[in-house]
Amino acid sequence: MPIPGPQEPMRLLLLFADTGGGHRAAAGAVARALHERYPGRFESVLCDPLGGPRSSWLLRRVTGLYGPSIRFAPWAWGAFYYGSDSRLSVRLLRSTLLTLVNRPVAEAVAAQRPAAIVSFHPLTGRAAVNARERGAPGAPVVTVVTDLVNPHTAWQDGKVDRIVVPPTALGWPRRAEWAGTDRRVEIGAPVSPAFAGGPLRPDERAGLRRRLGIAERRFVVVLAGGGEGAGGIARRTAAILRRFDDVDVVALCGRNRGLRARLDLLTERYPDRLTVKGFVDNMADWLRCADVVVSKAGPGTIAEATCCGVPLVLTSHVPGQERGNTEFVVNAGAGRSAPRVRGLLRQIDELRRDPATVDAMGIASARLGQPHAAADIAALLAGLLGADLRRRDRRCA
Ligand code: UDP
Repeated sequence: MPIPGPQEPMRLLLLFADTGGGHRAAAGAVARALHERYPGRFESVLCDPLGGPRSSWLLRRVTGLYGPSIRFAPWAWGAFYYGSDSRLSVRLLRSTLLTLVNRPVAEAVAAQRPAAIVSFHPLTGRAAVNARERGAPGAPVVTVVTDLVNPHTAWQDGKVDRIVVPPTALGWPRRAEWAGTDRRVEIGAPVSPAFAGGPLRPDERAGLRRRLGIAERRFVVVLAGGGEGAGGIARRTAAILRRFDDVDVVALCGRNRGLRARLDLLTERYPDRLTVKGFVDNMADWLRCADVVVSKAGPGTIAEATCCGVPLVLTSHVPGQERGNTEFVVNAGAGRSAPRVRGLLRQIDELRRDPATVDAMGIASARLGQPHAAADIAALLAGLLGADLRRRDRRCA
């Protein structure tokens, strides 16, 4: 493993892909925690070997299908997910399509000479191991699982040094080789420090709403659908606005431009009650200003909303990786399930008249939050690289 010279930070290569928004957000949260906890000691380099500029056109095409498939044909995504969720299918995928991930990761390793490689996506772990073996011998490879309850088999790779699994993924992975070893580490989903600190006081929230340009004293529902703006946000937004004239709606469309265009048209009808945004980079503000967040059961959004202590109403889940997330949130008292529009309207009707229940859900939500997870993962990485850091410190002394 290359040891940087005196004063030079150790470089970490963080692999993710923009299938949804959760993998990048998790990688960014760990990068930020490393920077804040160990100023000047680490430099994080984020790399998307599936859809980034150095990836093959075929991989870019395939990963580009993720958003449309979960929005328009979730059944097709579900068929792919469950069809590939076995060791045999993963082996087949790794020996065919996923060989294309090796080159961009190997190039990044050759260019960056990282001290460690951290993988935040189920399809980048094997390429990390391969690149380590060829270009960065001795560099630890760590996988950070970003699913909440049911991770896919592809997250597992026998050759990684650590696999960070949320405590909610009970008994996963089941393979004997992980059981009872210190290679499986339980830490929750990493979220950026912007989400830490729990719910705001009423006066703080009023100030935040003022800054965001939304009504200070009305019941505010924030609709989110992850990075892809998935989960039927358009019809749910329209139904809420039609049914209640004392409820304001913020619709976060992510990268879904079609959704944004449709909802922009709706703002003409509800100029004072509807706020429409594309992909925002101040998600913590939008979550914190909400009385209730309505979303698909994305693990990143759940982790962030719980750190902010916001009640959730979960309307759908992406088949496969989000299965079980709604039950987890509902059983903890932090949210409700409303798969149908009529049920969602009923829940909002109830909640807007019952602030005590909204508060209780917010408290239950905050209990689930794990705002220190990113710092814990940063500490794990620093611990793995500790010997090298100490050696360097001795040299610098
Ligand atoms: N996100 C964001 N801006 C947006 C929409 C989403 O930063 O406008 C982030 C959000 O904060 C979260 C992630 O994207 O970190 C979504 O993750 P989740 O697991 O909920 O869903 P995914 O998009 O991965 O399916």
